[in-house]
Amino acid sequence: MVVVIRADAPRQEVEKIKERLETADCKVSLMEGKDYCVLGVIGDTSGIDVNEVAANEYVEKVMRVQQSYKLASRMFHMNDTVIRVRDKVIGGQELAVIAGPCSVENEAQILELAKKVKECGAGFLRGGAFKARTSPYSFQGMKLEGLELLKHAREETGLPIVTEIMSTDMIEKFEEDVDIIQVGARNMQNFELLKELGKVTKPILLKRGLSATIEELLMSAEYIMSEGNSNVILCERGIRTFETYTRNTLDLSAVLAIKKLSHLPVIVDPSHASGLWWMVEPLAMASVAVGADGIMVEVHNDPENAKCDGQQSIKPERFKTLMEDVTAMARSLRRIM
Ligand code: PEP
Ligand code: MN
Repeated sequence: MVVVIRADAPRQEVEKIKERLETADCKVSLMEGKDYCVLGVIGDTSGIDVNEVAANEYVEKVMRVQQSYKLASRMFHMNDTVIRVRDKVIGGQELAVIAGPCSVENEAQILELAKKVKECGAGFLRGGAFKARTSPYSFQGMKLEGLELLKHAREETGLPIVTEIMSTDMIEKFEEDVDIIQVGARNMQNFELLKELGKVTKPILLKRGLSATIEELLMSAEYIMSEGNSNVILCERGIRTFETYTRNTLDLSAVLAIKKLSHLPVIVDPSHASGLWWMVEPLAMASVAVGADGIMVEVHNDPENAKCDGQQSIKPERFKTLMEDVTAMARSLRRIM
């Protein structure tokens, strides 16, 4: 961290700032110039609040050299994190495919889709039981009954299940029943939920918030990791921009940025990113091409009558072709599926 202080700052003010920074267990060196003096802060500065330092009237500028997240940063963990989920792996050389309906609607629907996506080669089954909907009048999910159906589908297919958690009171149940606990975009900054999920042993799929920066996403991962759970999978699912043609704007460069900044696996959800079923396949391919560690795709057997997100769900036949294309691309990129 670098702190720029005005040259007219009284000596004792400079000393006061210096001492305060030193209490954070950092080494601080002072360089004095004609117009400014500069404090160079070396060490673990994650405990220093930039705004607190900047609040001093003589401080011109405070710049972080190091990122404010530590556990999620590649700086302190060079190798890619590889996450084990039952007999499967996410991260490293592996390419994970998570597929299934937006929400669990009934037993026949989830069982049929689970079998179909498995047949096509998906490694994980997704399905919302507790749904975070924009309108309180929209279908809110089958809740606990939906969770039971997902478990049944896992029994039938062997596919690990991925489903979204909405509140802390469900944590115990999810830890017991779910293989990967999803935190939806709307809850990315629900810090109380994140902290509690930091205490569980199951991997967390953390989706990027609707208007969250890459740094904010990584800070949310840090919340989970700082409580002890280092199994975090990040998910780019599109962000809100001025463009309205698509539901969101898929930020593919975020995949590259996250891979550079962090060791955590990152997957892409082209369904929520575009909101349009016919864009899902090309965007999924593009995601694999830029180096995503996986994709999460909404698949529905009857999109027109889906209770949720039918417009962005592909049919199992299309998913089959997508899997063939993804497999071919994965091979050429030397990724394991
Ligand atoms: C979902 O995956 O079902 C979902 C609601 O996604 P998001 O939180 O990204 O909107
Ligand atoms: Mn959905």
